[in-house]
Amino acid sequence: MSLRDHLIARIDVDGPMSVADYMNECLLNPKYGYYTTRDPFGAGGDFITAPEISQMFGELLGLSLAQSWLDQGSPAPFTLAELGPGRGTLMADLLRATKSVPGFHAAAQIVLVEASPTLQAAQQQALAGYPVQWQDTVTDLPDQPLWLVANEFFDALPIRQFLRDGKDWREKRIGFKHGELTFGLGPLSSQAALNHRLDDTQDGDLVEICEAATPILASIAQRITQYGGAALIVDYGDWRALGDTLQALRNHKPADALTDPGQVDLTAHVDFEVLAQVAQSAGCAYSRVTPQGVFLERLGITARANSLAATLSGATLETLITAHQRLTHPQEMGNLFKVLGLYPNHATPPPGLNA
Ligand code: SAH
Repeated sequence: MSLRDHLIARIDVDGPMSVADYMNECLLNPKYGYYTTRDPFGAGGDFITAPEISQMFGELLGLSLAQSWLDQGSPAPFTLAELGPGRGTLMADLLRATKSVPGFHAAAQIVLVEASPTLQAAQQQALAGYPVQWQDTVTDLPDQPLWLVANEFFDALPIRQFLRDGKDWREKRIGFKHGELTFGLGPLSSQAALNHRLDDTQDGDLVEICEAATPILASIAQRITQYGGAALIVDYGDWRALGDTLQALRNHKPADALTDPGQVDLTAHVDFEVLAQVAQSAGCAYSRVTPQGVFLERLGITARANSLAATLSGATLETLITAHQRLTHPQEMGNLFKVLGLYPNHATPPPGLNA
């Protein structure tokens, strides 16, 4: 049995499935899921993420969080959380960079939210020597101040896709026809969650919603509002999304989303407007959505690169220069990736971000 066989059997019983159900099965099926069964990062994997490109990424995010913790009076204890930590590289760089912030490590209770047992094992290795706890979901984070980081986490959450038809919508679904998994459309239905999109869309436009993001964000924002803290959310996407952003990647190249379920990475762009609104409803302030390149430059990535460069030469120096460019240049990750900060209404945004 493969994931494909499992999906076909499921469609046979229940009928065509939503894109969200499909993504969920492909990424996190306990036996066959993409994340559950492998470590997909790096040059030999399917894609590379900012913390895997350079140590500077995790270091600067860590210093922004630590400064925000100092700005709010250094509360102790507090939760230092990461959502979807991948190989654990970001958290390892963050912890190394904040070692000399007085009291920060002593007060931090490190919690990693990770659904994949394979990646939990990689994180355990990367963070050996640190007292780390794992949780499957955000909803049971401790009731105390929370400083949190999430890089390329929200883009891995399942989305549903709807095609506008008059004042109603048809959901895009995945069925099985002529021996292949294929996209189709469900029946006309009204969607209360999409009422606000009737103003800025036309017949035939495709809109995505990520239902899984709402309770996660609400739970983070409630803690920050009630106990203090901040969150840095970094991802592909923009303020209000339009169009089909479901993307499959294999071996660093675009792939077909339906051909080899469970063998390719699936992501969708993040709609930062929705995240900001959920945060606001929970009483939390949010920053401007800021391009990653601008954010890292404000935090001093060029100075950090120069100081690292002083100790390097030859190929390692070239790698550093390329990494700096990749993370910040508007035509590379600098503009495609955005940063959203959450913080209490009475506090200042984490460094690198503006209100
Ligand atoms: N932040 C890392 C990895 C990004 S990939 C980096 O930047 O390198 C997405 C990560 O989120 C993986 O660790 C994946 O296993 C995890 N993940 C995906 N969906 C999840 C979910 N619903 N709950 C918890 N973790 C999830």
